[in-house]
Amino acid sequence: MRVLITGGAGFLGSHLAEAWLERGQEVTILDPAGDLKVRHLRPNPRFRAIRETVLNREILDGLVAWSDLVYHLAAVVGVEHYVGDPYQVLTVNINGVQDVLAAAFRHQKKVVFSSTSEVYGRSTAVPFEEDGDRVLGSTQTDRWCYATSKAAGEHFCFAFARMGLRVVVLRYFNVYGPRLDQKDRGRVVSIFIGQLLRGEPVTVIGDGSQTRTFTYVDDAVRATVQAGLRAEAEGQAINVGSEEEVSIRDLASRMVRIAGSSSPIIFVPSDAVYAHGYEDIPRRVPSLSRMRALLGVRAETTLDVGLGQTIEWFKRQ
Ligand code: UDP
Repeated sequence: MRVLITGGAGFLGSHLAEAWLERGQEVTILDPAGDLKVRHLRPNPRFRAIRETVLNREILDGLVAWSDLVYHLAAVVGVEHYVGDPYQVLTVNINGVQDVLAAAFRHQKKVVFSSTSEVYGRSTAVPFEEDGDRVLGSTQTDRWCYATSKAAGEHFCFAFARMGLRVVVLRYFNVYGPRLDQKDRGRVVSIFIGQLLRGEPVTVIGDGSQTRTFTYVDDAVRATVQAGLRAEAEGQAINVGSEEEVSIRDLASRMVRIAGSSSPIIFVPSDAVYAHGYEDIPRRVPSLSRMRALLGVRAETTLDVGLGQTIEWFKRQ
């Protein structure tokens, strides 16, 4: 099988490329970013990296025509972009998905779209069911542009599904693991690791009572592979996550213990970190019945094991 992964040089995409190569398939990634996360795949003759934006329609069309299955992961992601460059978030995310779907429709190829738990916004109806309500703030608050761009992408997916395209929407819940981000950047796990490895204070934002369910990348990838294979998943939105809900305060103390670090944990008022009216999500927990029923996958990696493997990987860097 020939698998195209837009955004394949990123964290999740690089692991997904690896998984399909391990299954003996041909993989092409389309990504303007450098090959830091996929350099180890270069020697594989079944792997190809095209350093180009997904918004290049000509190249995209050729690659979609070549492929049997398209994963659309290319997107502008990260809190710093939601509040720093909303124009870029909206343009790349909303135009990218349309171009990918249009090309896939032309060539009749199945698409798996990577969406996000962010689409639920600040809904309090935990665990989040896929057909539950989305609760977002004002469009004058830049923070919501990412959730809105991904939700628009989902709408496009379902619009194309009505016209007969085979599409699956996956909503990822805080996926983490080796190659996540650079230390100190991006998401809470990589930020804490940077602090821990230097023995500096671990910065919990607010009182740390906000919760997340973190998904180890191997579990997320197994679900993503199945989404590409299983017909039952087509036409559906499916949460990809784990059951282990943890407060950020608890996450910090687990990480200090697992890293064997002497870092103290400090609490930083959220308005000192989040300017421009950024709003933290108090509780984010997925309903996983669709993931189990339609993808046949359960998250198997406990948080402690996954954090241990992730911290070890960062230590070796
Ligand atoms: N967070 C924190 N300290 C940091 C960075 C993030 O306590 O240095 C918190 C953040 O406020 C949020 C949680 O960790 O409650 C997860 O943040 P992240 O940006 O990783 O993802 P998201 O908010 O999208 O789930």
